[in-house]
Amino acid sequence: MVDTLYIEESISEHPRALEISSRFPRARRILCERYSEVFNPKAQNFRLQKKRPALILAKKFKNFLLATPPSYGIGAQHNYYFSHMLNCLYDCRYCFLQGMYQSANYVAFVNFEDFEQEIRQTASTHLHQEIHFFSGYDCDSLAMEPITGFARFFLPVFRSTPNAWLELRTKSTQIKTLLETDPIPNCIIAFSFTPEEISNALEHRVPSVEKRFESMVQLQKSGWTLGLRFDPLIYQQGCFAQYSKLFENAFNTLDINQLHSVSLGSFRLPEKMFRKVHNLYPKEKLFAAPLEAANGMISYKAALETELTEYCTEQLLQYIPEEKFFPCSI
Ligand code: SF4
Repeated sequence: MVDTLYIEESISEHPRALEISSRFPRARRILCERYSEVFNPKAQNFRLQKKRPALILAKKFKNFLLATPPSYGIGAQHNYYFSHMLNCLYDCRYCFLQGMYQSANYVAFVNFEDFEQEIRQTASTHLHQEIHFFSGYDCDSLAMEPITGFARFFLPVFRSTPNAWLELRTKSTQIKTLLETDPIPNCIIAFSFTPEEISNALEHRVPSVEKRFESMVQLQKSGWTLGLRFDPLIYQQGCFAQYSKLFENAFNTLDINQLHSVSLGSFRLPEKMFRKVHNLYPKEKLFAAPLEAANGMISYKAALETELTEYCTEQLLQYIPEEKFFPCSI
């Protein structure tokens, strides 16, 4: 899966770097000073790199936690996101990461303990309030779990910090670590979905909708609290019926009482990112949809966006109580 490993010299003897690197005994190893030397240069071919990304092991020095946009959340007043990795095993055509980074190589930050320290410190400043920490913004939270051991490390951190809630956002079926761990009440495993027809067309390498539901059922049986994320909502011909079918399937399959929250969000990308992604895949049907630019963002035309959002909202509220529903209006 990875045939080239770049390793920052300063962490080359870090136990986690050694452990991750031992999973790729045949990979070419290249030492570097800072990951940005490899990751940031312009004129890299994202599309080509995505076929065989290298893995870069690095140390993060600052910005371990970032505040989420104000309209983003699932019920808490204080919300942060954090990224132990940059880039993703999967290849969703609508993914903003393609427009955000010059490189498709994976970066894994190995100094988990520094993230832990910030999480504990932030949680201690609001001891009597729930604080939500979202993982899976710059990567998928579980897709690389067998390599990084991310959940294995962070689950105990949150178990011992009850006012800190962790959302693991994923499209992965890598749930072994979770099944081997007693469920944690303040941890939500949030699975993202688009309808099967859209997933098949746009979410390359992502496990099928059916396989993801199977993982969710297994997790619910083990006592884990789950979330459903329909974000971004994607428009294509027939999508209204496809979303209906997806919701029906989800709520016939899952125990609604064990669902923490359901959220949805519109498709939108900053204009500059959109242009970059569009240039990568100019023939992609996704970009032939009725889109418009407004306030520096590209999204579906307002009337269409409202129609799709209202339709999905109405459908979802037939299955779940309003207090579990969190539309995201970024
Ligand atoms: S799973 Fe999420 S992070 Fe990964 S490519 Fe798809 S949209 Fe991007």
